[in-house]
Amino acid sequence: MDSKINKADDEVQKLISRKRLKSVEDRRVASEIFDKLTLESLYKLANQGHIDILNGAISTGKEANVLKGIKDDESPIAVKIYRIATSDFKKMNYYIDGDPRFNVRTKNKRQVIYAWVNKEYRNLKRLAEANVNVPEPVTTLNNILLLEFIGDKFGNASPTAKVKPPKDPESFYQKLIKEIKKFVNDGKLIHGDLSNFNILNKNETPVIIDVSQSVVLDHPLARELLKRDIETIVKEYKKLGVKTSYEELNEYIDFKR
Ligand code: ADP
Ligand code: MN
Repeated sequence: MDSKINKADDEVQKLISRKRLKSVEDRRVASEIFDKLTLESLYKLANQGHIDILNGAISTGKEANVLKGIKDDESPIAVKIYRIATSDFKKMNYYIDGDPRFNVRTKNKRQVIYAWVNKEYRNLKRLAEANVNVPEPVTTLNNILLLEFIGDKFGNASPTAKVKPPKDPESFYQKLIKEIKKFVNDGKLIHGDLSNFNILNKNETPVIIDVSQSVVLDHPLARELLKRDIETIVKEYKKLGVKTSYEELNEYIDFKR
């Protein structure tokens, strides 16, 4: 599977670096992972000047690939591409249904995925405006989301807090819970899949990512998701030696609606 994805990535990279060649033939360069419409969307973003080249895979998840893009000015950008074929659109529908921002009553798989990506974009925008430490969203097109690249000055993507546990868990935790409190009370969203897998450790500062499933506070799932998020975080940071409890974090976040 991995080599397949790397191969597809190579092909997409070639495609983008030849973005001026626009014949149908070129667009049809076979990719085993990304479908033709996705390649066309990438083309469009490249032609709009958002990406110059794609420079390798950062992550291959269950539903999305995150690639590193390079802009004309050499600066990096994160390119998150939801794979149409492997996206769980039943789950997506389940979350979108209770969200007043999306009353799309569509059963078309592609439309549901596009709405899902748009939701991640809007959630990020709202969180960034609320001053939560998340990657700034840049733009979105169909199943592709472009966002601020979180990494070091050498262009290496920051690892997750799972892969690179904080050196000082207590101080990292203190920063993290401030972000979670802002997420809920200022961003007015519940993450819904919060864990060290979705927290990047950027030079010992937490950056919260992966907010596609995040829900508004009056979503029917909000309370249940917040409870689960708090439980997960408390469990993970207790394991790292932080003295905390569900009650303590719950009280600190002080979720009211
Ligand atoms: P999913 O879990 O659905 O595959 P995520 O949004 O969690 O998608 O991204 C997967 C991985 O990609 C992350 O764990 C991280 O390693 C990397 N990543 C995601 N967004 C960024 C970003 N903005 N900058 C750098 N790396 C990122
Ligand atoms: Mn994730």
